[in-house]
Amino acid sequence: MVATDLAEEILELKRERNAVILAHNYQVREIQELADYVGDSLGLSYHAAKTDADVIAFCGVHFMGETAKIVNPTKTVVIPDMDAGCSLSDSCPPTQLAAFLDANAAKNYYVIAYINCSAGVKALSDVIVTSGNATRIVEAAPADRNILFVPDQNLGSWVMEQTGRKMDLWRGNCYVHIEFTRASIGRIREAYPDAKVVAHPECTYAVRLLADEVCSTEKMISYCRDTAADAFIIVTESGMLHRLRREIPDKTFIPGPTDACACADCRYMKMNTLEKLHDGLLNLSPEIVIPEDIRARAALPIRRMLELSR
Ligand code: SF4
Repeated sequence: MVATDLAEEILELKRERNAVILAHNYQVREIQELADYVGDSLGLSYHAAKTDADVIAFCGVHFMGETAKIVNPTKTVVIPDMDAGCSLSDSCPPTQLAAFLDANAAKNYYVIAYINCSAGVKALSDVIVTSGNATRIVEAAPADRNILFVPDQNLGSWVMEQTGRKMDLWRGNCYVHIEFTRASIGRIREAYPDAKVVAHPECTYAVRLLADEVCSTEKMISYCRDTAADAFIIVTESGMLHRLRREIPDKTFIPGPTDACACADCRYMKMNTLEKLHDGLLNLSPEIVIPEDIRARAALPIRRMLELSR
């Protein structure tokens, strides 16, 4: 089947199912172009929370589909590929976090979890953050509590720099963002001296130091649109380039290289294809299912985040 036929069939299935297609900024271009909404985790959470569709086809990775299900327990949430996981989410299994909290009960941790974690970890947390609202939510955390920030140590250390609030950091990371190095970004900066370097806070401290701006993927859109520069080096997953080029066609976007390649693809995000999206809508499978006790507990910190970031 050619891509245009496939795209039309997906749109037809979407109408039949009364479905909405949500896609993360890191999805391939064909999926981004078909989606009803493309955004970062925060924007996707809001859309998932307010949709009146019966079916949510969530084009992202597994924990994102879980987040949509947590806030929409009565809706059917399908994802294109059940194996589309996340190294960052995997770095903090709920059993390990529960054991750590038990062993450190005397610290009475206020647990702040980056949204890139499983439903089980969300259920153990006090509040969820995204890279777009983490600073604001950490500033609002109770002043008399010790904070444990999970699972991304790089985002956590960036938030500590921004807020001055001390936190204990879980030692997790995103395998894509830690591939950018001081050497690889230093070289591209020398090759394009007039371009602004824009990096995601999941990058290491050494890379963040080289950036003109460190921000969430959503903020990258407004920063690149509003900044008086013609070219930008984008230091995050390569899918972001599609969205920037589509929304700001008069500027130049250069993929930040790693030491191994010219751009950075997340192998999990790139497991999703139009064919799998089509089959997901046709069969309503693979479907996200979460035990109700975990879902209900995980909904509380997400709701707190949505309220605090309005
Ligand atoms: S880019 Fe990193 S954080 Fe995002 S899904 Fe891939 S592995 Fe996870």
